[in-house]
Amino acid sequence: MPTDDGIWTLVVHGGARFILEQDRARFAAGCAEAARVGGDVLARGGRAIDAVETAVRVLEDLPDFNAGTGSVRNVAGIVEMDAAVMDGETLAIGGVGAIRDVRHPVSVARAMLDETPILLVGDGAGQFAEHIGAEPADAGSIPASGGCDTVGCIARDQSGHVAAAGSTGGLEGKMAGRVGDTPLPGCGLYADDRAGAAALSGEGESIARGMLAAHILFALPDSGPLAAAQMAIARLGRTGGEAGAIVLDPDGGFGIAHNSEQFSVAVAAHWLDAPRAGTHADDLREWFT
Ligand code: ASP
Repeated sequence: MPTDDGIWTLVVHGGARFILEQDRARFAAGCAEAARVGGDVLARGGRAIDAVETAVRVLEDLPDFNAGTGSVRNVAGIVEMDAAVMDGETLAIGGVGAIRDVRHPVSVARAMLDETPILLVGDGAGQFAEHIGAEPADAGSIPASGGCDTVGCIARDQSGHVAAAGSTGGLEGKMAGRVGDTPLPGCGLYADDRAGAAALSGEGESIARGMLAAHILFALPDSGPLAAAQMAIARLGRTGGEAGAIVLDPDGGFGIAHNSEQFSVAVAAHWLDAPRAGTHADDLREWFT
């Protein structure tokens, strides 16, 4: 693996869903801000795993996005969130499912990287959050407008390591206790220094049934990020469902694909003077690999 080769890339998504035209600039701006903050970590020589957590925390605090503060409610009117992080250097994974009352589920997931289990759900996740002193959710949080707007991030740092993270309130009106694709490795995310990284948003049951992140990682070395992302989205032809994927190769090249009408995304990289953002893959098409 190269060390400090000066190459870094970070890609953020703010969910695969329809976004009203008047709201698009705001979604893009939120993603751009997350990419800027996460990108700063990488520009300073920081680790991919720190950058993806940092970027996702920014989005968890923005009420437009269905994660953290903006999380939608389940059928019982309760916010239950899923989040995960994966370190491509060690293949360590930390995830939480159906966790309640924390401001930054992604940071609880991050703390799980040091533990043997890869996923804690419900009360167990809550007890772990309490044990690490996780910050409680703001009691006045307002759920986002609904739809698929999970947030996620993938990054490649200057040491050649990749990482992925995701965070979501899940699907609005979901069954109590339901856990989607977001914290499931090989479904909503995956990261492996030898192949690259991927993060997804969309209908979690379809993403899990198609094992979309796993298929992306297997395809990446031969196909490259764009074709791997497109192939994963094409798999939804078998299950139905809307989704979007952001994909990164070990050299920092990236690709984006979705079958939803919009997919808010942003990229920051050593070769860009500032993050570029949009609400459709085409908005960033000129920078794909
Ligand atoms: N993938 C998420 C889930 O099914 C939803 C989303 O992307 O908004 O939980």
